[in-house]
Amino acid sequence: MSYKIEEQKVFNSGHSACPGCSEALALRFILNTLGSDTIAVVPPSCIAIISGPQPLSSMRIPVYQTTLEASAASAAGIKRALVSKGNHHTSVVAIAGDGGTYDIGFQALSGAAERGEDIIYICLDNEGYMNTGSQKSSATPSLAYTTSTPAGKLTPKKNVAEIMAAHKIPYMATATTGYPDDLARKVARAKEIKGGLRFIVVLTPCIDGWGIADKAGPRTSRLAVESGVFPLYEVENGENYTLNHGPSGISVADYVSGQKRFRHLSVGEVDLIQKEVDRNWERLEVKFCSEA
Ligand code: SF4
Repeated sequence: MSYKIEEQKVFNSGHSACPGCSEALALRFILNTLGSDTIAVVPPSCIAIISGPQPLSSMRIPVYQTTLEASAASAAGIKRALVSKGNHHTSVVAIAGDGGTYDIGFQALSGAAERGEDIIYICLDNEGYMNTGSQKSSATPSLAYTTSTPAGKLTPKKNVAEIMAAHKIPYMATATTGYPDDLARKVARAKEIKGGLRFIVVLTPCIDGWGIADKAGPRTSRLAVESGVFPLYEVENGENYTLNHGPSGISVADYVSGQKRFRHLSVGEVDLIQKEVDRNWERLEVKFCSEA
């Protein structure tokens, strides 16, 4: 399905992301879709660096930079304050990294989801604390090199998509910058739904932390989808699963071969990741009510 992304100029060029950064690309798609009647909440992260210090903000909307653990609580408070003043139209979006979502901000996120706060929460997932030098987060996949797991991470990636779906929120989706129409459509859907927390986790390959070429972000994220490492799907009310883009015959070996964070792996270790990906897909596949 194709979705047209109009340039709204909510996100300026000239920001301080690394050249080729997928997070900057994601921000452009997300903010163009949400439009100017939006308030963003951003915790410490590469997103905070990209959005910039005042008065040099790259976002032409109000941006509140909160603490790492409080994105969802801050967004919920802002939304409630707007509503109490009679403003029911402004969208409030928290845009956090995986460290601020899977780990440090998770308590506030889970609480806001359970309370049914009327906010959009978007996690830009680059699978590590890239802003502070590529340490592992609980979003880091099995066996990946980070500066705090130099021999490879020994535990699997936390499945935040399924954890959030289990909260029975009105909308949960996975997306990535390699499929921009799909990403924009999901952001539009999250904006359209009123009431309850809407959550999107967006895989955003990191040039520096993953060890990929400046131009390789979109291709790498497509390989993540096509290999089954990161299927794209959406879940409404925790029950209605729809597959958008799933595995299409690409091996995990093809996915990891272009990334320096996996270059220490033996053939046998790549095979272990393949088996983990296959098991995860088998568990997920049975939940889809329809396929795109
Ligand atoms: S460190 Fe990674 S995520 Fe952060 S700005 Fe650079 S490429 Fe983007």
